[in-house]
Amino acid sequence: MSRSQPVAFIGLGNMGRPMSGRLLAAGLDLIGFDPAEPARTALLSAGGRTAESAAAAVAESAVVILMLPSSAVVEAVLGDPAVTAALRPGMTIVDMSSSDPLSTRRLAETMTEHGVTLLDAPVSGGVSGAQAGTLAIMCGGPPAALSAIADLLTPLGTATRVGDSGAGHALKAINNLLAGVHLLAAAEAFSAAEHFGLDPELWLPVLNSASGRSAATEQKLPRFIVPKTYDSGFAMSLMLKDMRIATGLAAAVGGSAALGEQAVELWSRAAAQLGPDADQTDIARWVLGSSAE
Ligand code: NAD
Repeated sequence: MSRSQPVAFIGLGNMGRPMSGRLLAAGLDLIGFDPAEPARTALLSAGGRTAESAAAAVAESAVVILMLPSSAVVEAVLGDPAVTAALRPGMTIVDMSSSDPLSTRRLAETMTEHGVTLLDAPVSGGVSGAQAGTLAIMCGGPPAALSAIADLLTPLGTATRVGDSGAGHALKAINNLLAGVHLLAAAEAFSAAEHFGLDPELWLPVLNSASGRSAATEQKLPRFIVPKTYDSGFAMSLMLKDMRIATGLAAAVGGSAALGEQAVELWSRAAAQLGPDADQTDIARWVLGSSAE
């Protein structure tokens, strides 16, 4: 795609803000929308333009990027009659949210009726990966449509096609089920080590050169849990949403996710006790039994 074609960016939260910032820095003409006023102000400060509504942003653009909390919100935005009226044949919508693959497949079919291609391109790498442009982008959809927007994704990270419509969202949910299981296991390891009196300055580097290591022990423990900041920028509610998508998907296709379902049960209890503002890394605070602090 040409850099002069405006790109709409809808959803300017923890991830959308740094991602839209990188696209602006790459010279794209970006028009953003988010109902949260501070999110729009941040885009204006970064040199972007903002629209009054999602429909207004879509009306000006050839490509629309979505970075929204869930499939329910993606469906609400794309199902808005004003947005539908703003769609034009030949447009591409790239859903970079962590959405439900079955919803994505249905939406992709609906969009085809408007001559619009819906691609799924969820990401892994967190807020720091979004800031650095090192996200792993898991793409689903027609190869030609993905090739046509490949330049757009380059400033954000490494994009890889993993299959047809919904494949990217399926892989992302599966990844986050693993990440959630690993983070809970790392939180339990941390709790056991703390209660035994082990010094994390000593044990964590050794563990991270041993067979129990994971992204949770290599990154989340030292950056957010040992220093007790619990501020990774990924909400516990969003992690739980992704884990439920994956266990639901496993159930729908006849796969087994017995451990995943146990993990969902524990994460659900933590989320209910810690409230909607909890970060994913608060799972360690919950496991430590210090949630009343
Ligand atoms: P967030 O809650 O910080 O941001 C979501 C944004 O969407 C908010 O600014 C909200 O105001 C906006 N929004 C809500 N309803 C809207 C609507 N109707 N129209 C336009 N905007 C609307 O969430 P986030 O952490 O940025 O995550 C976004 C997506 O990326 C989620 O699907 C999440 O699972 C996924 N994700 C997050 C991370 C992370 O580390 N935070 C990492 C990978 C993937």
